[in-house]
Amino acid sequence: MSPGRADLVVRNGTVVSPDSMRLADIAIRDGRFVAIADRGALDLRALGLEGVEEVDASGLHLLPGVIDGHVHFREPGLEHKEDWASGSQAAVMGGVTCVLEMPNTVPPTDSAENVRDKQRLAEGRSWVDFGLFGLLARGGLERMRPMAEAGVIGFKCFLGETTGALPAPDDEELLSALREAASLGLRVGFHAEDRAIIAPLVEAAQAAGRTDALAHAETRPIEAEVAAIAHACRLAADARAAIHIHHLSSIAGLSAVEAWRVQGVDITAEVTPHHSLLSTDDVERLGGITRVNPPLRPPGEGAALVAALAAGDIEMVASDHAPHTRAEKSGRDVWQVSPGFSGVEILLPLLLAAVQEGRLTLSDVVRLTSHGPARAWAIYPGKGAIAVGSDADLTLVDLSREGVIDQDRLHGKESVTPFHGRQTVGTPVITILGGRVVMLEGQLVGGPAGRMVRP
Ligand SMILES: [Zn+2]
Repeated sequence: MSPGRADLVVRNGTVVSPDSMRLADIAIRDGRFVAIADRGALDLRALGLEGVEEVDASGLHLLPGVIDGHVHFREPGLEHKEDWASGSQAAVMGGVTCVLEMPNTVPPTDSAENVRDKQRLAEGRSWVDFGLFGLLARGGLERMRPMAEAGVIGFKCFLGETTGALPAPDDEELLSALREAASLGLRVGFHAEDRAIIAPLVEAAQAAGRTDALAHAETRPIEAEVAAIAHACRLAADARAAIHIHHLSSIAGLSAVEAWRVQGVDITAEVTPHHSLLSTDDVERLGGITRVNPPLRPPGEGAALVAALAAGDIEMVASDHAPHTRAEKSGRDVWQVSPGFSGVEILLPLLLAAVQEGRLTLSDVVRLTSHGPARAWAIYPGKGAIAVGSDADLTLVDLSREGVIDQDRLHGKESVTPFHGRQTVGTPVITILGGRVVMLEGQLVGGPAGRMVRP
């Protein structure tokens, strides 16, 4: 048996897939599903599983382990905000079994050596399995193949970062990089905001003395997202590369994605809970804590994004878990507030609340949090399915259990979130990683057994 992986039987739960629900018993051997049978029909003797530990999932729904395709666990280099232990503990408490982690750490994950260093850091400390993004920045072309060999899940390119710390390649280099990614069979994810549109607006707002939170949202308009998506898609079409749009935030942005999809570009997209469920009304209500890139959008955009999620037009929901300290998330001057906030632990509860409201189905949630990301990032069906042979990662939810999001009780380092105080219905109550229970009724169980996943 591989380390950290176990045998287990889960009985009496309702197994949810992207297109069905079924009462079933599940057998797990050495961390993988070996049988899914009608209730009471498992033959444990034939499976060689007599006497193994059992979980009674009566009244619970079984989802394939939730994959959060966009987290920043901040280690190495920014451990005052989060680290692999705290971030991954927050993940399992929220029913997440696998995260895809971003490369803008210190140092950035921009070479094979730094990929391996981050893997070493995470293995033995992460409570969830993880994939690592490699950074695609200026001058990094020749490091892509070594990073692929080191096992990156894909590449991340920051178009339009205002900090300038991780400058994007120019078009010629980006085209070459996309060709390289295509030859490596890896997808390239984009932070899609056009700096040329944003920079003069920020300058003007600051010159006018604005420091209010809305000024941030207004200076990063939807047109900047649309322009950056078109830019990335034009090059991807040329290079025949597979790309992904992180934290898509607007309907015009989605229309741009769909237009290029029709042209034959292999493009996937993700939406965050905050762009789906919050708006500039919340920016006015809560102030700088809502600062995030792309910014929250005017009312109406989020509801339309949720409808698009339900319609199957967007592949996944991911949290963009981007934690900062309370001090970094406060202050009257929005330009001094760090962009981003915690989210990995509340991703699933927020989606289950949307199920309760009738805006999504439970099968939609499975499609958006396991099946969709696993397929887009080429780890399906090892991840993302309750099927014989797949990794035995499970998220057991109680659809009737109510909760209130309380940032003081979340499990990241400081866990600041604009969803603080929001009521939820539907709660993850058991998290299983590789056949091993790692969260039971809000308590961590066992130890960190997360491993790196590769495409
Ligand atoms: Zn991010």
